Amino acid sequence: MIDPVRMLRAFAALGALWLVCASTVAVGQENPPPAEHARDDARSEPWRFSSTSEEFVVANAQFVLTHELAHLVIDEKRVPILGPEESAADYIAAMMLIRPRATPPEGPEALLRVAVNTADGFAIEWQRRERLGRGVPYWDTHSLTVQRFSTLACLLYGSGPERFAGLLERVDMPQARARICVDEYARAAYAIDWLFDNYARREGEPPGAPLETRFEAPPTLTSRRMLDAIRKQGFVERTIAFFNETVALEKPATFVMRSCKQPQAMWVPATRELVFCYELLDAYAAMSLERRAEPGGPRLTSPPDASSGD
Ligand SMILES: [Zn+2]
Repeated sequence: MIDPVRMLRAFAALGALWLVCASTVAVGQENPPPAEHARDDARSEPWRFSSTSEEFVVANAQFVLTHELAHLVIDEKRVPILGPEESAADYIAAMMLIRPRATPPEGPEALLRVAVNTADGFAIEWQRRERLGRGVPYWDTHSLTVQRFSTLACLLYGSGPERFAGLLERVDMPQARARICVDEYARAAYAIDWLFDNYARREGEPPGAPLETRFEAPPTLTSRRMLDAIRKQGFVERTIAFFNETVALEKPATFVMRSCKQPQAMWVPATRELVFCYELLDAYAAMSLERRAEPGGPRLTSPPDASSGD
């Protein structure tokens, strides 16, 4: 039996995590660790990496984009799945980070840090909900955020028990679950390979209709700054290019970043738009402040907080 509070506390001690609320805040004034030191830590123990607010926001945005692309593929290709589509999209996104088909210029460790930062975000979201006494949203189409956190931690550990040995202790993962994580990762690896084998464009096949990208004007200073960071990092362009290479769409579609008054992202089949709302960047930025508020990790008990949005 997993005690989520113990897990969260342990993971918080790591200094890694975030989530969604709806306020505009300025971020990025923290002092990042010396770059060389951070890179060394990331190579040897990627889950130790303590990201800056900017990296935290960009990483979470990267997970969201990948998750939404998974929805697009499931919908477009009518991929048979058992269980909630949201869980399938989470697993696909997680495996694209932990077991990537293409390595980004920063190296594969960068993608592991994206997974760690995303797990952090789920944990912070869960903490916020508990703090606000908002109850357990068990009818939600998504798994509980605390489960999304433990799933990511489990897949990370399962992907390399030796490499991630320290993670076990850090997140207080029971040995029994850890052993299962190895199998869970193996099953997920088998499934993602199957997905590519069956639905990816084969060599020599003509490309499909394009997924295009459009960036509308961000509405806030924070979302402007975060969009700049995202464009500089380049993951949107790389991810969409990889998608266009890999998936043959029947009709064109558009990935659009725009203001939509809600901190959310979604695939909209009717308009063939994959929408990423700038309000989500604001929300992640606010969460990153929460993460930084307590040295070494996010707060686990409840200071007053006015905003939330999921
Ligand atoms: Zn989803």
